[in-house]
Amino acid sequence: MSRESLRSIPSVDRVLNAIGECDLPRPIVVACIRDTLKELRRATHPHTHDDVVALVRENLEGLRRLRIQSVINGTGILVHTNLGRAPLGQLVVAAQNDVATHYCNLEYDLPTGKRGRRAAYLEHALAILCKAEAATVVNNNAAALVLILQHLCQGNRPQVVISRGELIQIGGGFRIPEILQTSGAELVEVGTTNKTSLEDYERAVGASTGMILKVHRSNFFMDGFVSSPTTEELAALAKRKRIPLVEDLGSGAIVGTDEHAQVEHEPTPAEVLRHGVQLVCFSGDKLLGGPQAGIIAGRKRFVSGLKRHPLYRALRCDKLILAGLQAIVELYLEGNAGYAQHDGIPVIAMLATPVEHLRSRAEALIETLECKTLDISIRETEAQIGGGALPRSSIPSIALDIKPRSESVKTFAEGLRNSMPAVIGYVSGKSLRIDLRTVFPFQDHQLIDLLRNSATRERQVKDA
Ligand SMILES: *Cc1c(COP(=O)(O)O)cnc(C)c1O
Repeated sequence: MSRESLRSIPSVDRVLNAIGECDLPRPIVVACIRDTLKELRRATHPHTHDDVVALVRENLEGLRRLRIQSVINGTGILVHTNLGRAPLGQLVVAAQNDVATHYCNLEYDLPTGKRGRRAAYLEHALAILCKAEAATVVNNNAAALVLILQHLCQGNRPQVVISRGELIQIGGGFRIPEILQTSGAELVEVGTTNKTSLEDYERAVGASTGMILKVHRSNFFMDGFVSSPTTEELAALAKRKRIPLVEDLGSGAIVGTDEHAQVEHEPTPAEVLRHGVQLVCFSGDKLLGGPQAGIIAGRKRFVSGLKRHPLYRALRCDKLILAGLQAIVELYLEGNAGYAQHDGIPVIAMLATPVEHLRSRAEALIETLECKTLDISIRETEAQIGGGALPRSSIPSIALDIKPRSESVKTFAEGLRNSMPAVIGYVSGKSLRIDLRTVFPFQDHQLIDLLRNSATRERQVKDA
C-alpha cells in the first residue's frame, strides 16, 4: 500500500470509490467527504491517500453513531431521559402502527359523518383513570405547565405563588423558575429552601394571585430540618382564598409503586386530586410508561378553559402519541399494566421484576458466556426509577460486574458503547456493571454476543 505523501488532496469521487459500501445515504457520505477534504486542505502536514480514506471512514462512523438507534440500557435507571425514557410495549406500538399506516377518525365523528372532537375518548378514559372531572393531553409536562400558567396567571392576577424549596432544576436546562417566567407569570417565592409554612403562603396570596403551584420535589430528597405544608393544608388555604391550587407531579405514577416493588409510595394523580388540588399535571413518558406527553387532569372548568386557550393548539399532540396513550390508559384501566413485559407496560414490568428472576438470568448469562478472558461476577446492586421519581428509593437489583484484564475499564466501556447495538453500563471502581433490571430478557442473547466480541477484542489487545 502506498504511503507516499500526496502533493494534492484526492477528488471526492476517488475517496467515494475507495471507501466502498456504506449504509448512509449517498448525499450524506459525499458531504462528509467534502467536509473532511476541506479540513485536510487546511492542515499543514501532508497526508497519504490511506490517511484520507481512514479519516473519512472515522467521520462517517461518527455520523452513524449520531443516528437515533436502539441501545441496551445497563444503567439500572428505568426512566433515563438521555436514553429516551419509557420504552413502549408491543400492544402500544401495534395500536400506533394501525393508526400510522391507515387513515383514522382523529377529528371525525363516525356516527354523524361530521367533524369530531380530537381525542375525546382518550380524554374521557384519562379522566376516569385519574378520578378527575376532566383531562387533556399536550406535548409534554413542561408544555402543560406553560399552558396552565398562561391561562391562570393573566390580567390583574399575574402572580404564581411557589415555595423556594420547589424552585428546582429538572435535568439539563429545565428550571421551574425559568418556565414560570417564560409563560409571563410573576413569580412570588415564599419560605426558604428547607422550610415553608402555611403562614408563608397565606401572607403571599392576595388580589394579584392567579394560582398556587406545588411542584413534586422529584429528583432530589431533602432530609433533616425540613418542612412544608401538606397538599390538603394548601388546598384548604386555596379554597378559602378562592384561587386554584395546581400540582406538578412530574412522574405521575398511576399504580402504587410500593405495590410493585420495595420502594416508597409515589403520589398518584388521583390521590393528589382527592386532596383538593384543582389541576394536576405529569409526564406521559416517565412512570406512566407511555410516549412523550403532558397530561393535565382536574376540574372540568379549568380543563375546558385550557383547551380554549390559543396556545393549546400549538401544544397539542400528534395522532401517534394519542393512539399510544389510548392503549396505555386502557391497559391501566383493565389492570394489565405490569404483568406481561411485552404486552403490558415495560417500565412497570421492570419495576415489578423480582430480584430472583434477575439473578437467574445473570447466572444463565455467565454460564452461556463461558468466558475466560473477562472476569465476570454477579453483583447485588441498586436500580433507580430515574426521570425525577422517588429519588430516595432504590430498587434491589442484580448486575453483571465485569473486570477487563488487559484494557482499562474506561476503554472497555467505550468499546461496548461503540458496539452494535451499543451497551451502556456504568463504571464502579475497576469494574463495568450492567444492571439487568433495565436489560430486556429478549436482549440477553445479544448481550452475550456483544460481551463475547469485547472479550475477543480484549484478547487481541493482550496479544498485541
Ligand atoms: C420531568 C418533570 C417535568 C418535565 O416534564 P417533561 O415531560 O419532560 O416536559 C416537570 N416537572 C417535574 C416535577 C418533573 O419531574
